[in-house]
Amino acid sequence: MKRFLAFPLVIIFLAACVHNKYASTNKSYKKQVKNYAKLLREYPVKDSAGMRYADNWVGTTNFSMRRPNFVVIHHTAQNSCDSTLRTFTLPRTAVSAHYVICKDGTVNHMLNDLLRAHHAGVSKWGNATDINSLSIGIEIDNNGFEPFSEPQINSLIGLLGRLKKAYNIPVANFIGHADIAPGRKVDPNKYFPWQKLAENGFGYWYDTTGVQVPSDFNAMNALRIIGYDIKNPESAIQSFKLHFVQQDSTKLINEEDKKILVDLVKKYQ
Ligand SMILES: [Zn+2]
Repeated sequence: MKRFLAFPLVIIFLAACVHNKYASTNKSYKKQVKNYAKLLREYPVKDSAGMRYADNWVGTTNFSMRRPNFVVIHHTAQNSCDSTLRTFTLPRTAVSAHYVICKDGTVNHMLNDLLRAHHAGVSKWGNATDINSLSIGIEIDNNGFEPFSEPQINSLIGLLGRLKKAYNIPVANFIGHADIAPGRKVDPNKYFPWQKLAENGFGYWYDTTGVQVPSDFNAMNALRIIGYDIKNPESAIQSFKLHFVQQDSTKLINEEDKKILVDLVKKYQ
């Protein structure tokens, strides 16, 4: 009889273990949030050297939390969702994202949207450089060389819809890591369905029919207007192709690409 009773107890014990797998990192999360709340309560506001930013402090009564204005999409370049959750809960890695979407479509939320995740690194889009401060980071479980699963994309589209509505994020501001870090990053990979996302209102896509390319058309200028950092032209072209001309891995702009750019620029301007 005892044996029969022990079996369900083992199940309950195992379930508790699975449930508490991240108990200690959840505790660390809460502790860090508490410390930031403490920081926000401090006044007058001082810089890291303890110097006041201004001579006088008068606390206003009217304010709210800053909100994200961009969404940056990544692939994890790891072999499982569990590996990524582990990576983002180890302090020594110093990297994180707000959301991680597993192959079965499960969405893991890892950080309040109003806080800054460490996902973009050195990056630039238009004149914005601290993209981590402006954005939500979404990591999609993918080893970097495979297509994305249908449940993943469905979950992603659902999540993007909620974020767009909650923070009023402009259509143009749904971008990829490779877009903001040309030459340094190549995610999400060439299988990422940017066109499908654009059809759902997340990012722009082109329609080249009937586009005339002006004789003085400057492709690099067009890439710059869209947002690309064109410091290294070849890298900028590579990132552009990864997003908009995925079957072409060259770093050259051809006549068809120019048509795409002419059309895209109108949307991003
Ligand atoms: Zn990335």
